[in-house]
Amino acid sequence: MSEQSPLIVAIEGGGTKFVCGIGSDPHHLLATTRIETTTPQETLENVSHWISKMKVEHGPIAAIGIGTFGPVDLNKESDTYGYITTTPKPHWHQTDVVGFFRNRFKVPVGFDTDVNAAVLAEYLWGAGQGKDPLIYITVGTGVGGGVLVNGQLLHGLLHPEIGHLIVPPPHNSLAIQREGQCPYHKSCVEGYVCGPSIAKRWGVKADALPPDHPAWEEVADVMGYALMNLTLTLSPKRIILGGGVMQQPHLIPLVQGKLMHHLNGYVAAPELSEDIQKFLTSPGLGGRSGLLGSLALGRMALGEKNVPTS
Ligand code: ADP
Ligand code: ZN
Repeated sequence: MSEQSPLIVAIEGGGTKFVCGIGSDPHHLLATTRIETTTPQETLENVSHWISKMKVEHGPIAAIGIGTFGPVDLNKESDTYGYITTTPKPHWHQTDVVGFFRNRFKVPVGFDTDVNAAVLAEYLWGAGQGKDPLIYITVGTGVGGGVLVNGQLLHGLLHPEIGHLIVPPPHNSLAIQREGQCPYHKSCVEGYVCGPSIAKRWGVKADALPPDHPAWEEVADVMGYALMNLTLTLSPKRIILGGGVMQQPHLIPLVQGKLMHHLNGYVAAPELSEDIQKFLTSPGLGGRSGLLGSLALGRMALGEKNVPTS
C-alpha cells in the first residue's frame, strides 16, 4: 500500500450489527468496529461518529462503500436509489442510507446488497478468483445470494433474491413444523433452512443440533434443489456457501452429494462430479467477505472500473 492510496470506509450493514472498516486495500485495514443495529437514526449516527473519529486519526477519506441487508433500491434513476426499501425489519422500512452518508461526508458512496458485496470480494480476493459467473450464498438469519456475471454484480428489476426460490416441500419430514416458515411463501428455501426456520421447525437452535440429526439431511436436500436451479439457470463456474448455518463442517459435503443426486447426471462436467469440492465451497475470506466487498464498492465509487487485485 502506498502512502498516497486513497482511504476508503467500508460498511457492512447487517440485521444485528454494522461492521465498519477503514483502509485502502483488503490486506491493510487500519481499524474496524462493530456497531449494534437498533433504529436507523441511532445506528447511522453511531457509524457516522466512528467515521469522524477515524478521519481525525487517519486523515481524509476518499469514498464510502456500503453492502447492506435489503431489499435495497439499486436503480440510479430512481427517487429512492440507495434506500433500504421494503424490509420487514422494524424501523428500517424506506431508510435512505446512501443519502445519509453522502450528505454527511460529501464523498462518493458505493452501494449494493451485503451478498453482492460478498460475491465481489470473493471474486477479487477469495475463493472465487477467476470464476465468472460466481454465486455467493449465505445461510444465516436469512438466506441471501449475490451474483457476479461478466465481471459485474447482477442488478435488474431488483437484485437476486435467492432465498425465496421455491423448492419441493420435504416429503416425509420429521420436523415438528413441517411447513416452511417464510411469511410470504409456503415452500421457499429460507422458510426451511435459515437459522430461525430450522429452530422453529425442529424445536432446537441450529447450532445445538448434533451432526447426525435428521434436520441436516433435510437442510442439505433443500439446498441441493436450490443450487440445482441456480446451476441450470445461471451456469455458475463456482458457488460459495457462507453464513452461520454453513459453519457446520459436515454440511457442505452433504449439500454436494444432494446437488449431484438431484442433477442425476444430466450435466456432464467435472465440476458436478469429481471436482464438486471445488465447485461448492466455503468462503475464502471467512466472515470478512461482506466487509471487504464493501471496501471494493467504495473503490469502485471512486471511478475504478476494475478493482486491482492487490
Ligand atoms: P447473520 O445472518 O445475522 O449475518 P449468521 O450468518 O451468523 O448471522 O447467522 C446466524 C444464524 O446462524 C443463527 O440463526 C444461528 O442459529 C445460526 N448459526 C450460527 N452458527 C451456527 C453453527 N455453527 N451451526 C449452525 N447454525 C449456526
Ligand atoms: Zn420466501
